Amino acid sequence: MTAQYQVHGDVAIITLNNPPVNGLGLSTRQGIADGMAKANADAAVKAIVITGAGKAFSGGADIKEFGSPLASQEPNLNSVIAVLENSAKPVIGAIHTVVMGGGLELALGCHYRIASPGTSVAFPEVKLGLIPGGGGTQRMPRVVGVEPALNMIVSGEPIKAEMLAMLPGQKLFDKISASPESLAEEALAFARSVADVRPLPLVRDLKCKHPQGDAYFAFARNMVKGMSKNFPAPAKCVDAVEAATKNKFDAGMAVEQSIFINLMMTAESRSLRHLFLGERAASKIPDVPSDTPQREINSVAIIGAGTMGGGIAMNFLNAGIPVKMLEMKQEALDRGVATIRKNYDAQVAKKKLKQDKLDQRMALLSTTLSYDDIGDADMVIEAVFEEIGVKKAVFTELDRVMKPGAILASNTSTLDVNAIADFTKRPQDVVGLHFFSPANVMKLLEVVRGAKTGKDVMATVMSVAKKIRKTAVVSGVCDGFIGNRMIEQYGRQGGFLLDEGCTPEQVDKAMEKFGMAMGPFRMGDLAGNDIGWAIRKRRYTEQPDMKYSKTADLLCEQGRFGQKDGAGWYDYVAGKRDAIPNADVVKMIEEHRKGWASPPARFRTKKSCSAWCSPWSTKRPTFWKRALPTRPATSTSSTSLATVSLPTAVAR
Ligand code: NAD
Repeated sequence: MTAQYQVHGDVAIITLNNPPVNGLGLSTRQGIADGMAKANADAAVKAIVITGAGKAFSGGADIKEFGSPLASQEPNLNSVIAVLENSAKPVIGAIHTVVMGGGLELALGCHYRIASPGTSVAFPEVKLGLIPGGGGTQRMPRVVGVEPALNMIVSGEPIKAEMLAMLPGQKLFDKISASPESLAEEALAFARSVADVRPLPLVRDLKCKHPQGDAYFAFARNMVKGMSKNFPAPAKCVDAVEAATKNKFDAGMAVEQSIFINLMMTAESRSLRHLFLGERAASKIPDVPSDTPQREINSVAIIGAGTMGGGIAMNFLNAGIPVKMLEMKQEALDRGVATIRKNYDAQVAKKKLKQDKLDQRMALLSTTLSYDDIGDADMVIEAVFEEIGVKKAVFTELDRVMKPGAILASNTSTLDVNAIADFTKRPQDVVGLHFFSPANVMKLLEVVRGAKTGKDVMATVMSVAKKIRKTAVVSGVCDGFIGNRMIEQYGRQGGFLLDEGCTPEQVDKAMEKFGMAMGPFRMGDLAGNDIGWAIRKRRYTEQPDMKYSKTADLLCEQGRFGQKDGAGWYDYVAGKRDAIPNADVVKMIEEHRKGWASPPARFRTKKSCSAWCSPWSTKRPTFWKRALPTRPATSTSSTSLATVSLPTAVAR
């Protein structure tokens, strides 16, 4: 049973017990309903306490039920909450550690709530493209006020119980216990103190008003629209909370239900739920159980202080783990250290980091030009040029100097991790750790498992990933692993669009309008165009059938590697990341097109990115060629532009 029933004197206690976070699955909901029926039928029971076993009061819906009919099967969450509200005897929520989503809605159905200090309180539904669907949008504004409730519901972020308890006039918590340990005792005493109170207070009976409602919600809507342009749920949170202020409780609940059901079916929510479940699944390795022995990682060496080496180092410094960076030349080390410091300085300037923390982190960083200085590190991560010969030289050295048991990781984007492991006499210690640029910011970390990588190495790097706050995803060995294989066609098609008449800026703008955080050319400049160049040069011989636009190679031949040089597809001013279009790059692309047999197409960025598409392209699907108008030979007037949306073109 995932909810247990006990009686302590004259108080019944219902304890949710559905590890890890007491999710409100069907059996737990049924257990609560059964416990409530027993308690109400027992004349000796005067009050009922609901609490959670283990590490949470309740984290909300049981994710195993997501999208299945079980989630709405009776008793569903709203029915259970109705049982609490209609109880003839007072129900007290004894809340601790985590109360989120449906768990918080359950608590709001209690007549009274007592929380232990440090409890995290949140409505995270928006992160799954939803709104709270168990009355959260209707009850929360009634207990903490409209503005704090909407902030919590739109952001999905947790707030500590004691902070919420400080809100003027709040009715969310009747009491904060003196300590987490005293919660159970205090909840029992509180239950006895209210055993005879009648009528019992109900959140649904409280008033819900905002003094300047219309103005506030118009303002909130504008804020939310700007922050979440491709996600429908945040704006719907505003609608649902507004409904709480404009309707009687049951009518507001009906609005919430209708919004919730509609959002459930959106592609955005389905994708976000898929992502959530996928992330959880990706963190587990079937043949590496959680009790697999791990190696101690208390120090790290990094080979290469370039774009990736510096960012990777910051992750470990942030986690309090000392880092030694190795380079070929002192000036490369100086540049790498200066970039790290500049990144931290920027965080201090934005008040995201305190100066003393910056100093502590920089004090954990040391540098060297000699392999003999890094042998003691528990783990070494190589981030040098993407060429197998360079990797071989580095791993041969690492095999020579690293202490037995050290983990030898490569940040390679595409190269064969098994081949890299075989450069050493200890392939069981070698693993791919593929960070994404900017490595100090991006959450994803691909863990590339070689044929001989040890299980203890896998277990260790998965837990190191957690320590440095990355989302680790295990990949097999293949050219490009997961992320780079996914983005490969996108980048290639971006290149073909340059050949066909687009400028980098047009492609980037169209893709950013489509919803990408950054278009493919701005992304290339951020990551470093030389990395892609090295990868293509290898593939020209290994995969001769793979076609690429030559424009990216021409750009690299001019030394325009991207932001790190201040020049790539765009120009960059030192210390800034704004992409400034460069006329010479556009000219270079135009010159390159002159070599083509057919005249280039002409593209124009308009509201819907109207474009002439090149009718000579044999790669286009026939339905599309048929849809194209005949292109006038000399016309350049904008009125002659056909409207074919660029995202369709890119996805061909
Ligand atoms: P980078 O050119 O910015 O930096 C590489 C650094 O390695 C340079 O500072 C260079 O001096 C140093 N170096 C080269 N050979 C060395 C050697 N033998 N010993 C010590 N130092 C040496 O390159 P990067 O973008 O940081 O990429 C490094 C690795 O990370 C590559 O394998 C790349 O594929 C991979 N990677 C890059 C990105 C990205 O977006 N840039 C993302 C993920 C992975």
